[in-house]
Amino acid sequence: MAENISSGPPAPPSPRNAGASAGEGAIAPSDFVREIVAEDLKTGRWDGRWDGRVHTRFPPEPNGYLHIGHAKSINLNFGIAREFGGKCNLRFDDTNPTKEEEEYVQSIEKDVRWLGFDWEDRLYFASDYFETMYEYAEQLIKAGKAYVDDLSADEVTAHRGTLTRPGRNSPYRDRSVEENLDLFRRMRAGEFPDGAKTLRAKIDMASPNFNLRDPVMYRILHASHHRTGDAWCLYPTYDWAHGLEDSIEHITHSICTLEFENHRPLYDWFLEALGVHHPQQIEFARLELSYTVLSKRKLLQLVEEGHVRGWDDPRMPTLSGLRRRGYTPESIRNFCRRIGVAKFNSIVDIRVLEDSLRDDLNKRALRAMAVLRPLRLVIDNYPEGKTEDLEAVNNPEDPGAGTRRVPFGRVLYIERDDFLEDPPKKFYRLAPGREVRLRYAYFVRCTGIVKDERTGEVVELHCTYDPATRGGDSPDGRKVKATLHWVSAAHAIEAEVQLYDHLFSKEDAGDVEEGKDWKSNLNPKSLEVVKGCQLEPSLAEAKPGDRVQFERLGYFCADPDSRPGALVFNRTAVLKDTWAKVQKRDGGGNL
Ligand code: ATP
Ligand code: MG
Repeated sequence: MAENISSGPPAPPSPRNAGASAGEGAIAPSDFVREIVAEDLKTGRWDGRWDGRVHTRFPPEPNGYLHIGHAKSINLNFGIAREFGGKCNLRFDDTNPTKEEEEYVQSIEKDVRWLGFDWEDRLYFASDYFETMYEYAEQLIKAGKAYVDDLSADEVTAHRGTLTRPGRNSPYRDRSVEENLDLFRRMRAGEFPDGAKTLRAKIDMASPNFNLRDPVMYRILHASHHRTGDAWCLYPTYDWAHGLEDSIEHITHSICTLEFENHRPLYDWFLEALGVHHPQQIEFARLELSYTVLSKRKLLQLVEEGHVRGWDDPRMPTLSGLRRRGYTPESIRNFCRRIGVAKFNSIVDIRVLEDSLRDDLNKRALRAMAVLRPLRLVIDNYPEGKTEDLEAVNNPEDPGAGTRRVPFGRVLYIERDDFLEDPPKKFYRLAPGREVRLRYAYFVRCTGIVKDERTGEVVELHCTYDPATRGGDSPDGRKVKATLHWVSAAHAIEAEVQLYDHLFSKEDAGDVEEGKDWKSNLNPKSLEVVKGCQLEPSLAEAKPGDRVQFERLGYFCADPDSRPGALVFNRTAVLKDTWAKVQKRDGGGNL
């Protein structure tokens, strides 16, 4: 099962896996980023500098929880360091005082660790470099390459020009070095209100690249920072800070997403002007996934406006949401290997992620029987009060997982969708007069139905069983076309189960109708809570985070809020490879 899924190109034979751990994730298929790194090592590009190793970093801004797109970047940066015997830093890009919070810092550390990566003692904060950056700025001022501007933000924009029209120089552009230095120091000392002045790089207002039209390096912001407190009222812009952070940490390969390609000439300009260590920037395509959004800003909005129950809502594409839903770190790492790394943007089918999960859990998850929408089934010829323990296989993919005993009795629950009074062609499950197999138990034949007098709904089935079919086979070679899961009513434990569908109804969640908000694409049916589900008794002890396959239904995971006596399971994924096809073919219901 699930072996029909393409897993991308195999890893080419390569010497690069120094320091790699064995097994899954040790070697990723090569890609253009890895080729650049390999070539640099071959030519000794970084030899004699620092320790000559490959040094990458993952630089999140702590303004939200990490999502699956970040996992792609984490896998790439930490993966390359691991494969090439290098190092990877975790660096919080916390240059923006108003949006960053301690809660995010902690969640990000937890998520990176959970994914299986380790920054050892290399945990850094960009805010620790504020003083160095400030000194670099003075250096540029002294070299006549930066100036203090009095234009307001709107005026700066108005002076920038357009794609076809060059920008105009600010009237303050030609201040003397002395005046610039004096003003910049007074900016730092807090003499001016927010927005009164900026420090700008003096590059070229006519450059075809907007990023080079005298970009702002510092703005005045009297705001407290989560680490530096009120020490600064001057904060660096992303464009000024980011390349410096990589330079200060002696990063060799600054791997970032494609939208920074046009910023590279600016980073190059800053580093050249300062004469400091100059990493190689490499841009790759950011991950986009169907039926969801990967933007912290949008995800934050969903949380704040209550469209989801939190950052870790199992419908969210965040790592904490995927974890709560039941995803394993292995499945996410494998997903990243499958999608690879390229230089063009595209939307990855979310089924690739789900398939990665199924591939992993199919091998590992123990099986159990659970009935989500119970229908009573009474076996009239089974002795009243009798109970048998039947042997059930824990995982057919793993003989080592052993077997367990499942109690069987006269009254059972089966899935409501497994019975139809008037079955269409190709519906092979239970129907009046028909015989089916109960998994690990007996053949039963439906002999009667009981309906609710008022609604006409079938509320109970009556059956007879064939004692000779114990274990699930008939000695006379009689065949049945369906095998159903079941639980014994006398032994079943009750649980709540949360079924999830895509968070957005559109494959391209960003494809918004004119005049409408992006949230109009939210799927109103993304969560269905099913109460009164009946589970086999072995699940009574399930602990939060435990993953299990409910036979024929999918993979489920006990929620952190689950308690003995008040169990809650999240559906991680359906068993698409087998059951959905059967359902589709059968025209069966939608469990
Ligand atoms: P968002 O738009 O979600 O806020 P971001 O790029 O602003 O994303 P950062 O915290 O700055 O988020 O990202 C940290 C690192 O993760 C960056 O190097 C960034 O390139 C990378 N990254 C972010 N989103 C994706 C994505 N969808 N696919 C691949 N890498 C990503
Ligand atoms: Mg960002």
